[in-house]
Amino acid sequence: MPLTPEQQAEIDEARATPRQTLRAVSEGMERHLYVAHPVLDHGLLRVIDYMGDDSAIVQAARVSYGRGTKAVSNDEGLIRYLMRHWHSTPFEMCEVKFHVKLPVFVARQWIRHRTANVNEYSARYSILDREFYIPAPEQLAAQSTVNNQGRGAVLSGEEAQRVLDILRDDAMRSYDHYEGMLSQEGQQGLARELARMNLPANIYTQWYWKTDLHNLFHFLRLRADAHAQYEIRVYAEAMCRIVADWVPLAYAAFEDYRLGGVSLSGKAVEVLKRRLAGETVTQETSGMSKGEWREFEGVWR
Ligand SMILES: Cc1cc2nc3c(=O)[nH]c(=O)nc-3n(C[C@H](O)[C@H](O)[C@H](O)COP(=O)(O)OP(=O)(O)OC[C@H]3O[C@@H](n4cnc5c(N)ncnc54)[C@H](O)[C@@H]3O)c2cc1C
Repeated sequence: MPLTPEQQAEIDEARATPRQTLRAVSEGMERHLYVAHPVLDHGLLRVIDYMGDDSAIVQAARVSYGRGTKAVSNDEGLIRYLMRHWHSTPFEMCEVKFHVKLPVFVARQWIRHRTANVNEYSARYSILDREFYIPAPEQLAAQSTVNNQGRGAVLSGEEAQRVLDILRDDAMRSYDHYEGMLSQEGQQGLARELARMNLPANIYTQWYWKTDLHNLFHFLRLRADAHAQYEIRVYAEAMCRIVADWVPLAYAAFEDYRLGGVSLSGKAVEVLKRRLAGETVTQETSGMSKGEWREFEGVWR
């Protein structure tokens, strides 16, 4: 578990002091509030705060005075309509703030999502912990031979051991040097902001990350996807489970239209029409490139 007993005690205390509120409360999200969900070997994900629920989306779409409609089926229909037609602003009325502990190389991918507010742990101010991401044996894969951005077969035996030894030794040696540079007996020690520069990218950092539901769905569509790197995907998948409990109607619509659905080009629609009319269409006669055709055919497999 990536938490110290003191950190767990702080979380327990926060959860032990509920307050009454007039604000919209999502029962599903209340169960997650402050709880640390472990991710990777030392990482975590937890909800620090949130605003809104499914009704808040409906309420914003209708600009109503109360809490949306009484009938859940009406709310569900409207939310599905909004999702289907890319009416995104009602989803922006819901917000969530996460505390994430993640390896630096994952943080570099994550930070590319610009539509969020971020506060990162300062390694100029504080000393980083000796915590490095070391892949589990089943994630220690070779370079893919078919996808330049992916993994192939899992390494095994001597090769796997050699790689693990290198990862561990390099991390520990770098950290020893980091500590050594920060404080040397009888000497001033190097500034924290400089000593950190030779730490490897698998060291853990932490941040608070706040975004709205529309942009969170965008993040999840890209990062919970099979093409995303495993190490960021596991965070996205943990978020999906939380969001499903927070806004079940909105998440179900997202799962259906975005995660499970596909977007077809005009050419793809033409090919479908021609096929439905009984014509045999190939990549050469489709007007699509080889890559487009491969993806198009992949949808139906
Ligand atoms: C599988 C995968 C592989 C990738 N590979 C690479 C890679 O090799 N190299 C690389 O550099 N990146 C790579 N990326 C990162 C990718 O190119 C995007 O930068 C990242 O996914 C963030 O997406 P975004 O800009 O849509 O998201 P966000 O920054 O969250 O923005 C959300 C949406 O807001 C709008 N928006 C935000 N800011 C602006 C703006 N300033 N101007 C106009 N519109 C804006 C856009 O509509 C955008 O889609 C990869 C991402 C994935 C998922």
